[in-house]
Amino acid sequence: RAKEAGKNQYQFFDEETDRLLVRKLELERDLRKALINEELVIYYQPKWDAESNCVSGMEALMRWHHPQLGTIMPIEFIPIAEETGLIVAMTRWMIREVCKQNAEWQLHNLVHVCVSVNMSVRVFESGELTEMVVEALKAFAIKPGDLELEITESIAMYDLKDTIQQLRKLKELGVRVSMDDFGTGYSSLGSLDELPIDALKIDQNFIRQSGLPSKQAIISTIITIANLLNLEVIAEGVETEEQIGFLKSRGCRVMQGYYYGKPMDAKAVEAWLLHAANSVKEEVTVEVASA
Ligand code: C2E
Ligand code: MG
Ligand code: MG
Ligand code: MG
Repeated sequence: RAKEAGKNQYQFFDEETDRLLVRKLELERDLRKALINEELVIYYQPKWDAESNCVSGMEALMRWHHPQLGTIMPIEFIPIAEETGLIVAMTRWMIREVCKQNAEWQLHNLVHVCVSVNMSVRVFESGELTEMVVEALKAFAIKPGDLELEITESIAMYDLKDTIQQLRKLKELGVRVSMDDFGTGYSSLGSLDELPIDALKIDQNFIRQSGLPSKQAIISTIITIANLLNLEVIAEGVETEEQIGFLKSRGCRVMQGYYYGKPMDAKAVEAWLLHAANSVKEEVTVEVASA
């Protein structure tokens, strides 16, 4: 009987593996057309300054509205985009669209903040990033400081010398750079002082577990490092008032997470800016920092 069950289980995994492989091949085939068919959509998630109680930025996050399969999340299609190299064209499009959208928001006096775009190793490898950025800024007359590039520790460490060189050029233009998911990646701690960046984003896994003294110690250390290196610090994945209270007590003022707002399409974020933003404006009590 055990043998029988084992066999069934094996068949189950086998079918599951086949199904996933078929879906992957399907997505790979369709992703090539997604850009020209206008199936890629940009969602925006607000970054909130909890000290002055205002929106201090937005992060652009990609979604794929597949005509048959529905909405596909980045965790599934970004790796495919990276493997196929399509990520370079997709990022070029993303940077352009974000600048275009930001120009429109500024023109209509809806909001004037910096909007960030997530980067990939492949984009740095392509050697096209600076040119993409220059082109987009020029096309929509966007101030360089209104565009931010989010890199990760693995991007930084992939080819450290080259990353630093490319980031220097981008910094000379006046574009902002932040380090995403800080504390979880292939550690860049030893090179952090050499990287021309403006901000550290504390990884959401730490925030999720910020009730644990050990995680609190890590969060506090990241905030201290940021302060000492003159970097801004932002907390990702903030969902509760307890987390906000703790983060504020440790001197972190900028937050991003479902508590403030989920990623929304352009229309929804416009509505959020006009109305919903007010509902998160009430003060969250600051926890007294323990000695
Ligand atoms: P990320 O850049 O670290 O983005 C944060 C992710 O956490 C987003 O997931 C966001 O929706 C989610 N998030 C934000 N606040 C909360 C919260 O309070 N709770 C929880 N549970 N989640 C929260 P998303 O949009 O699925 O993106 C996942 C990752 O995919 C991103 O992580 C980024 O690494 C990548 N990605 C997304 N768009 C792009 C893109 O245009 N280009 C590249 N290269 N990567 C992208
Ligand atoms: Mg990010
Ligand atoms: Mg992140
Ligand atoms: Mg991430």
